[in-house]
Amino acid sequence: ILRVKGISKSFGTQQVLRPISFEVGEGERICILGPSGCGKSTLLQVVAGLARADAGEIEMRGVTVEGGRRYIPPENRPVNMVFQDYALWPHMTVRQNIEYGMKRRKTERGEMERRLKSLQSLLKLDGLLDRLPAQLSGGQQQRVGIARALATEPKLLLMDEPLSNLDIKLRTDMRGELARMLGELSIATLYVTHDRMEAFTIADRILVLRDGRIDQLGPPEELFDRPASPWVAQLMGYHN
Ligand code: ATP
Ligand code: MG
Repeated sequence: ILRVKGISKSFGTQQVLRPISFEVGEGERICILGPSGCGKSTLLQVVAGLARADAGEIEMRGVTVEGGRRYIPPENRPVNMVFQDYALWPHMTVRQNIEYGMKRRKTERGEMERRLKSLQSLLKLDGLLDRLPAQLSGGQQQRVGIARALATEPKLLLMDEPLSNLDIKLRTDMRGELARMLGELSIATLYVTHDRMEAFTIADRILVLRDGRIDQLGPPEELFDRPASPWVAQLMGYHN
C-alpha cells in the first residue's frame, strides 16, 4: 500500500535521511524505533507530504505521490496522520472534531454513531464529547487526535508517538487496544515510538532507524533473535 524508494532529505548541510527504501503491505503495521534526532518525524512528514524529499519516490495505493517533478499535497494523499502536536480544530467540540472527516466523506448517520461509540470506549472519551480542545488536558487531546484519525477508517495511517503524553498505565492499556483496532480495521500503519514494548505489541515489523539510515527491518522476533548490529541488540534490551 506504500512504497518508499530512495528517499533522502537534508536540512542545510545536515543530511537527515540517507536514501531510504521500504514497503508497507495492506494492513501491515510497521513501528519505527530509533534515537532522538535520527529522522523518524522527518520520515513521516515526507511520507505525509508535509515536507518535500530532496530525491526519491513515494507511491501510495499504486499512485506516485512524490517523485521527479510530481508532488501531491497532503490533503490529497490517501493517508491519515496523528502527530506529536495534535492540531485539533480549536473552535469545534470533540464530537465535531471526530465527525468532521466522516461528514466530509458523507458517512451515514447510523454508521457515524457506531464508530463514535466504539472510539469513545477505545480512547476513554466518556464525558468529553461536548468540550472544546482548550478544555482538555494534553493526554485527552492526544486521544481525540487518535479518534479523529481512526474515524474515517483509512487504509494508511501515520502516527508519531501517539501515546507519548499519556501516563504509563493508560499507555500500557491503550497500546493493546490500539493494536487490536488497527488489526480489525486492517489499517496499514507507520508508527513512531521510543518504547520498545509498544513496538513489540503493535508491530508486524520493526524498522530501526539510526542516523537517517535503516539499521534493520524485520519482525520483532527476528530483531530480538538476530540483531543486525550491536546497536539493535542494545535496543532489544541486551546489556553488553
Ligand atoms: P525525536 O525522537 O526527538 O522526535 P526524530 O527522530 O523524530 O527525533 P527528527 O525530528 O526527524 O528526529 O529530526 C531529525 C534531525 O533533523 C534533527 O537533527 C533535527 O534537528 C533536524 N530537523 C528536523 N526538522 C528540521 C527543520 N524543519 N529544519 C532544520 N532541521 C530540522
Ligand atoms: Mg520526532
